[in-house]
Amino acid sequence: MRKAIYAGSFDPITNGHVDILLRSSQIFDRIVVAVVRNVHKQSLFSLEERVEQVRTSLGNLDNMEVVCLEGLVTDYMRDHDIKTIIRGLRSITDFEYESQITFFNQRLMPESNTIFMMADPQYTFVSSTGVKEAALFGGDVSSLVPQVVAVGLSTKAQELRAAGLLPPGAK
Ligand code: ADP
Repeated sequence: MRKAIYAGSFDPITNGHVDILLRSSQIFDRIVVAVVRNVHKQSLFSLEERVEQVRTSLGNLDNMEVVCLEGLVTDYMRDHDIKTIIRGLRSITDFEYESQITFFNQRLMPESNTIFMMADPQYTFVSSTGVKEAALFGGDVSSLVPQVVAVGLSTKAQELRAAGLLPPGAK
C-alpha cells in the first residue's frame, strides 16, 4: 500500500492545502494529514479546532486520516510504517524553507523521501497567515478557504472584537 504523510500547522487549512491533498489522493492509497502543535508560533485556532476544520474540509475523501501530532513527523512515520512526505511548493521562498526541512528529515530518517507538489497557480499567493490577517481585518476570504474555515474565521474575529483584542484598524 502506498502511504504518505502531509503535515503542517493548518492554522487554518486553506484551499491551497486542500488542492494538494485532492491531487495527492489520486497518487497514494492512504494519506495521513498530521496537524502539528507548533511550539514556535502561537496559533489562532486550537489544535482541536484545526483538526476539526481539516476533517470537515476533507469530508468525502475516505483514503485520508486526520491526526494530531505533538512530536516529530519522522517518529510518527517510523511508528506507522510511512516513508513518504508530501509538501506543497508555491514559490522559490518555499523552496528554500522546504529544502531545509527535507534535508533535516532525511538526516532524521534516511529511508524517507519527500515529494513536492506545485501549488495550483490560483492558490500560489494563499497562505494561512495571509487569510488570517485579511479575515481579521474584515476582508472576504471565502474563495480561498473551505466554508468551515470561513465561518471559523468570522467567529474568531467576533470573539476577538468582543474581547477588545483585534489589532488596531480591524473592522
Ligand atoms: P507549516 O507550519 O509547516 O508552514 P503549513 O500548514 O503552512 O505548515 O503548510 C503545510 C504545507 O502546505 C507546506 O508544504 C506548505 O508549503 C504547503 N502549502 C501552504 N500553502 C499552500 C498553498 N496555497 N498551495 C500549496 N501548498 C501550500
